[in-house]
Amino acid sequence: MFSMKKEFVQSVTAMDEDFAQWFTDVVTKAELADYSSVRGSMIIRPYGYAIWDNVKEALDARIKATGHENVYMPLFIPESLLQKEKDHIEGFAPEVAWVTHGGDEKLAERLCVRPTSEVLFCEHFSNIIHSYRDLPKLYNQWSNVVRWEKTTRPFLRTLEFLWQEGHTAHATDEDAQVETIRMLDEYAQLCEEWLAIPVVKGQKTEKEKFSGAKSTYTIETLMHDGKALQSGTSHHFGDGFARAFDIKYLDKEGKQQYVHQTSWGFTTRIIGAMIMVHGDDRGLVMPPKIAPTQVMIVPIAQHKEGVLDYAYDLKERLSGSVRVGIDASDKKPGWKFNEYEMKGIPIRLEVGPKDIEQGQVVLVRRDTGEKIVVSADELEAKLTGLLEDIQNNLFNKALSHREEHTSVAKSFEDFKSVLVEKPGFIKAMWCGDVACEEFIKEDTSATSRCIPFEQEKLSDTCVCCEKPADKMVYWAKAY
Ligand SMILES: [Zn+2]
Repeated sequence: MFSMKKEFVQSVTAMDEDFAQWFTDVVTKAELADYSSVRGSMIIRPYGYAIWDNVKEALDARIKATGHENVYMPLFIPESLLQKEKDHIEGFAPEVAWVTHGGDEKLAERLCVRPTSEVLFCEHFSNIIHSYRDLPKLYNQWSNVVRWEKTTRPFLRTLEFLWQEGHTAHATDEDAQVETIRMLDEYAQLCEEWLAIPVVKGQKTEKEKFSGAKSTYTIETLMHDGKALQSGTSHHFGDGFARAFDIKYLDKEGKQQYVHQTSWGFTTRIIGAMIMVHGDDRGLVMPPKIAPTQVMIVPIAQHKEGVLDYAYDLKERLSGSVRVGIDASDKKPGWKFNEYEMKGIPIRLEVGPKDIEQGQVVLVRRDTGEKIVVSADELEAKLTGLLEDIQNNLFNKALSHREEHTSVAKSFEDFKSVLVEKPGFIKAMWCGDVACEEFIKEDTSATSRCIPFEQEKLSDTCVCCEKPADKMVYWAKAY
């Protein structure tokens, strides 16, 4: 056992020693992803994809329950179409990948590989929306997108990633606003209730909003190392895209009106967030609701008569109430313990000859390491309760971490010293001038994360220029 542990410790960098290396180690050792031969692209391995599948299933149910339909748009966008909305193309041009040839033949017009699909939806909407009866259009697509990023990191920033993008068209600006916030709330609930990650909801500043949007809303989360991660965004487009793409409808009075649009996206990035919010020096820690396997059975002394049969019977019995796996391979129990701790499986169930004799099993919690001896008769009820406990414990731990790493800065001196001494969110007043935002970014590399819905009046003056200020902003260094 001891030699096993030693070997294990050597294989993962400690979080506090080198957080970035710890992250990469967990991604590879927990078999979530592997590097591919294309720089910045990753292979999502079965365990990583099973997590995404569960996130996707939970989110897709919410998207459908709120009245949206899934569609699929093409991968390619003609250059002329991408250029129709000026701010949009300016925002995305630097990271667009272009297709110039089909086989040996040079294309008459370059095609871009979608970095996002607004323009495709807009073109389609302009063809299918004619009357107020055609509204609202509530569409969503699950797809991949490509953004030619310079620095990349598995799950957090990759050339290609998976996501869903919702695109909707409404009769009025108010309807579009309601939709924008509705979907932001869905993201927030998914994060908090399923992924056990607390969020700060708010609006992006003009500088940080989506290219072409009238306003962008975000959920911001805080990672273990004190850096923020933008974890989902929802955009209100107003009628800007509608004017550029001529998306009009006849209202009840027979007058032509432009539609009002929204879009909103949630990506595989969230797996990176889950790793960095819940993980520890032993590896991943999975919130039970999303965990592909919630309980892993590890038979002890499985060569002894009856142990494996008993363990398989248990698995069969439990499969009705939890997502349960069994490792009956000939690897040593110590290796299995480490492996499933690395994969973050919420509960390990150990059962050996002695346990069978006494009608009990041993449960080990991944989040606390606590060992619990349970009578085999009460197993289902105990497991259901424990999984709920673990889910709540992970959320509460993440929430206290965020609270401990959220500071108030009333002066620029404060601001700078907090960033060094206690990395995390900084709440500070802001005058609204983009010059202050840019100065803060240049001087400290912290960016404005959002203007939170829950405002507090910390002082009367801007943390940067000391002019009058009435907005409280969350600032942080971010991924
Ligand atoms: Zn200012």
